[in-house]
Amino acid sequence: MAKKSIKWLSHACFSITSPGGKVIITDPWLVNNPLCPVKVEDIKIAHVITVSHDHFDHWGGVAELAKQTGAVIMCQPETADRFKRELGIADANIVFFGGGMNTGGSVVQEGITVTMTQAFHSSATGSPTGFIIKLEDGTTIYHAGDTGIFESMKLFGELYPIDLAVIPIGGAFTMDPYQASKALGLLKPKKVIPMHYKTFPILEQTADNFIRLAKKEAPKVEVIVLEPGKEYSW
Ligand SMILES: [Zn+2]
Repeated sequence: MAKKSIKWLSHACFSITSPGGKVIITDPWLVNNPLCPVKVEDIKIAHVITVSHDHFDHWGGVAELAKQTGAVIMCQPETADRFKRELGIADANIVFFGGGMNTGGSVVQEGITVTMTQAFHSSATGSPTGFIIKLEDGTTIYHAGDTGIFESMKLFGELYPIDLAVIPIGGAFTMDPYQASKALGLLKPKKVIPMHYKTFPILEQTADNFIRLAKKEAPKVEVIVLEPGKEYSW
């Protein structure tokens, strides 16, 4: 079977490459991000961009990225409007011909199925979201966005058996290691990669507490800790 890979570009930003060679960029924060190992112009190929909500640390550089790659942005309608109005992003670079998508909805783009989920957070426009991303070979990745824990995470695991969960552990604005480790019991993924930590001084600075708690709360889940710029493939 062809391999897939996921590279952490720090914070909530990942570059996922599907077995068919499609590239999905989550929550691009490529401009003024102290830990991001690449510049916008370094990303030559992307097909899908997911933006979980409208906070600066989830879309810095999104306009340039969409323009240079032709990728389609998955985001809420109100965020789509802001992107078009303030950043001049074209309708063709936003899901559903510029309209945006909403919670519960799915779209197939280049063979990749993207489903928007709820998240509990805030957003300058629209509502905060997460994404279930299904690759061509059926591999299912849950990107939680910024969120606290919520019980219907259990339902996501039932509806879309999760191979890899990508969840925030930093605290302050999102789940902390304790909530994130409990979330694993609800989601029941095979693997997990922690995100949204060490970027700001007020956030958790390492994944150590999460690793320790995850071992206790969800011993069957394989915890994969990446450094910014590092990739995991399977
Ligand atoms: Zn954030």
